[in-house]
Amino acid sequence: MVELACRKCKFISVDSKVCKNCGNAELTKEWYGYVVIIDPEKSEIAKKLGINIPGKYALKVG
Ligand SMILES: [Zn+2]
Repeated sequence: MVELACRKCKFISVDSKVCKNCGNAELTKEWYGYVVIIDPEKSEIAKKLGINIPGKYALKVG
């Protein structure tokens, strides 16, 4: 199982070649820390990061 973070929106996809949040193909193994967004519509952090779907998001992408 490989967890890859999207360079654009920081969404963490598991065993995937494209980001499941924004469709970007630039994913990286180098990321640090994460937040779990359960309800993007009610989350201020989600709005700031441009997050649309629930899931795990990296705090820092290398
Ligand atoms: Zn993305």
